Formats: sequence, C-alpha cells, structure tokens
Amino acid sequence: AGAPLGSSVIPIVNKLQDIFAQLGSQSTIQLPQVAVVGSQSSGKSSVLEALVGRDFLPRGNDICTRRPLLLQLIQTKPRSDGGSDDEWGEFLHQGSKRFYDFSVMRREIEAETSRLAGDNKGVSEQQIRLKIYSPNVLNITLVDLPGITKVPVGDQPTDIEARIRTMILSYIKNPTCLILAVTPANSDLANSDALQIAGNADPDGHRTIGVITKLDIMDRGTDARNHLLGKTIPLRLGYVGVVNRSQEDILLNRSVKDALIAEEKFFLSRPAYSGLTDRWGVPQLAKKLNQILVQHIKALLPNLKSRISNALFATAKEYESYGDIAESRAGQGALLLNFLTKYCEAYSSTLEGKSKEMSTS
Ligand code: GDP
Ligand code: MG
Repeated sequence: AGAPLGSSVIPIVNKLQDIFAQLGSQSTIQLPQVAVVGSQSSGKSSVLEALVGRDFLPRGNDICTRRPLLLQLIQTKPRSDGGSDDEWGEFLHQGSKRFYDFSVMRREIEAETSRLAGDNKGVSEQQIRLKIYSPNVLNITLVDLPGITKVPVGDQPTDIEARIRTMILSYIKNPTCLILAVTPANSDLANSDALQIAGNADPDGHRTIGVITKLDIMDRGTDARNHLLGKTIPLRLGYVGVVNRSQEDILLNRSVKDALIAEEKFFLSRPAYSGLTDRWGVPQLAKKLNQILVQHIKALLPNLKSRISNALFATAKEYESYGDIAESRAGQGALLLNFLTKYCEAYSSTLEGKSKEMSTS
C-alpha cells in the first residue's frame, strides 16, 4: 500500500513547529494536526497505527490510551546502504534517546502513561510527545486521544466523561485541527460519540472526516454502504470505511502489512461495497487526509504570516526596552524569525507548485 501521504508540504510545517518551540512561543502558532476522537475501543489507536504503518500504540479491548499522545511523523531519506535501522522514535521525556524497536516504544508509552496516570485506569491530560523518524511515514502530526467513556472504572473520578470530553475538545476546538471521527460499524451511527463531539467543535464539518471501523463484524445481513455514502448522517468531507486488526489478530501478532492486504480483500469480496473504492481502506483515508491538509494549510497562510511579523515586531520591542541584557536573546529570536519568514515564503511557493522539493535541513 505504501505511504500515499508523501507530500512535500508537511516537512516545512514540522520545521516551523520546531523553530517556534525553540523560540519558546509554541502557543502563538496553530498548525494543523490530526486528532482521532470517538468512544473507547472504537478503533482510534488502530486507525492511527494503520496510517503510520507500524505497531507501536497500546491498543485493546479496555482503556489503553490514557494520556494524549502527540505523534510527529518525520519522513527521512532511506539509508543509501540499505541498512534497516532507518526508523526510530524519540520521546520528549527521554531526550535524544533513540528507540529502534517499536514494541519497546509501545512499552515506553505504557510506562510513561502509568507514571502520570497511575496503574488503575486513571486518565491524565498531560501529553506524551513522540517523534517517529522513518522513510516510510507520512509527514504529519497525529494526536491519539483517550476515548469517551460513561461509567467511571478503577481510579477514574465520577466526572470522567466530562473530563475526557473537555480534554478532547481542547484539541479539536482548535480551528486548525483536523478531526477523524471514529465510529464502529457495529454501533448505531446516530449514537456516535465521535460525530457528536466533532459536531460540537466543527459544526460546519469543514475539518471532520468520518471513519467507520469494524466493518468486518457487523450484524449479519447488514452493511455500511449507506453510512459510507453519507446517507445515514451527512458529513461534508464524507466517510471512509476501514477494517483494522481484531483483538485476535493482535494476540496472533498479525502485521500491519498483512492487515492492509486483508482489508483490501475484505472490501473487494463484498458486493455491498462495489463502486465505492474511494470510500474504503486505510490508503484511501491517507489520501483524503493529505488533500484536505494541503487545502487547509493554504487557507492558513496569510494568518501565519501576520503572526510571524507580529512576533518579529514584539522581539524588536523587547530588544529596545531591555537593552544589553536581552541583546543576545532577542538577536537569536530575530534570527530565528527571519528563518521563519523565509520558510513561510518557501512554504507558500511549494503550495503554489512553484518549487517542487524543499530542503528541511
Ligand atoms: P480505541 O480505544 O478507540 O483506541 O480502540 P483500539 O484501537 O484500542 O481498538 C479497540 C479494540 O477493537 C481492539 O481489540 C482492536 O483489535 C479492535 N478493533 C479495532 N478496529 C477493528 C476492526 O476494524 N475490526 C475488528 N474486528 N476489530 C477492531
Ligand atoms: Mg486508543
């Protein structure tokens, strides 16, 4: 299936993000991210894993995702000598330590989850930040979020549902956040927590993609054709149906790659889904995301530029008022902002298709 999201646009976004982080002014810029929302065990983590093409997220039939995971995928050049250690992860809380083994990465997510959220199903809103470097990933920032639950279990407070909703909303209310609203096909679309909360944050549906999971375990005699066609609940950007790995597949260690092949086979063998090839499969979801992202970023550019010039202005002011003491810091800031402006210009010309390849170093 490959990585259909190899766009040349997103490395620049990630670079911008890094530069702003160095400036210590992360919050002044709002860059597009993709967040998954939905009820617990609807398949959110599974969808993200399939998009990334690697096994590394805690998944399962219980509450697994208990802290938001900010996942920045960074596309690297393949090693010229064909070596296999060209994919690794780095956690913010672990500094520059490289994780080459994805199952170790999963254990690190679990350990870091427990460190702040305890061992008894507690949920914390403190982010875990993970960068994945790979020649095989799409360049995109993804956010895996805890699912909506109704009944407190373990150490969860009585208002767990409200807390999780507030946490989810804090991500998806951001007008630059794309929302993957995940609903399992074996539950009623009209009862979807995902569509409900996405509808709160994005009432016009300009940045919500519907994802229907578990099409393989629908009630016999039913199918999701009308859901995928948007006839059940219309959604401006439409729906994509997917089949992820089942719990049994996870226990049997079935690979993402095999799962993608099985998914394709599933859809091609079901007459109910004939003629809907642009509405099913993880590769299709990736493609759709990329198209939407590019349009989205393009719309944000003028605003981004004015933010940068405001920041430049503020730095110059700071320089004036603090004199010598702030000189080096402000000088550094101005330098970085110059870089930023340059990046923004290059960025917009990439979008306009004037420049094909951007160096991100
Ligand atoms: P999350 O809580 O929304 O992140 O859901 P997970 O990704 O952890 O998945 C919950 C459970 O549902 C796991 O046992 C998955 O194996 C299973 N699952 C997810 N998607 C599918 C699917 O499309 N088909 C089947 N049969 N099982 C799925
Ligand atoms: Mg999850």
